[in-house]
Amino acid sequence: MNAEKVFFILDELEKIYHNETVPPELGHDDPLDGLILTVLSQNTNDKNRDAAFTKLKTLYPTWPDVIKAGRAKLEDAVRSAGLAHTKAGRIINILQIIHEDFGEYSLEKLAHEDSGKVREYLRALPGVGAKTVACVMLFDMKMPAFPVDTHITRISKRVGVAPEKTSPEEISRFYESIVPISRCLGGHVNIIEHGREICRARNPKCEACVLSTKCDVRN
Ligand code: SF4
Repeated sequence: MNAEKVFFILDELEKIYHNETVPPELGHDDPLDGLILTVLSQNTNDKNRDAAFTKLKTLYPTWPDVIKAGRAKLEDAVRSAGLAHTKAGRIINILQIIHEDFGEYSLEKLAHEDSGKVREYLRALPGVGAKTVACVMLFDMKMPAFPVDTHITRISKRVGVAPEKTSPEEISRFYESIVPISRCLGGHVNIIEHGREICRARNPKCEACVLSTKCDVRN
């Protein structure tokens, strides 16, 4: 993979979107909230995810409330996020495991461990994939991680950071191996904004793109 192109992307996009200079606040008081939000975000958009999370928190303000309510009621609460049956089951499972491991519905104790241990713990939870782990580590625990979504995968491949067959997890690991923690959050958000506005999946606006001079699609 091509490290020079990663830094080209980060440098050029920061000049436009400035999320490294002014990082958005994407974290939560307790990383467990971030984890559950990210579980809800799987296979849906931010709007549906947020609607489901807000409804869940309104109906069941604490995690013991959620456990008491049970899967069927939780399923109703998170329906707007889609795959409600699966997601409700996963959430209950995750809450039970965390309570068993830490004696509370919280990931604050885990957040004090080293990043390798945190990654291993989160990855072993049911239905939690590499992107979810990276989101919770970066947004909620301020730990080194670089979540790679569909936009970051697409741009990385088009510009020539990674070959076509590379998985999002491999791309994520590559970014994590070379990008300093101070640039991860802002860089991650900058690339996503560029993917939404310019390097769209269909009809990318190459003529308006600051990455075009070094993009494999254009050269
Ligand atoms: S030049 Fe086109 S394909 Fe390349 S990153 Fe920009 S918008 Fe995407």
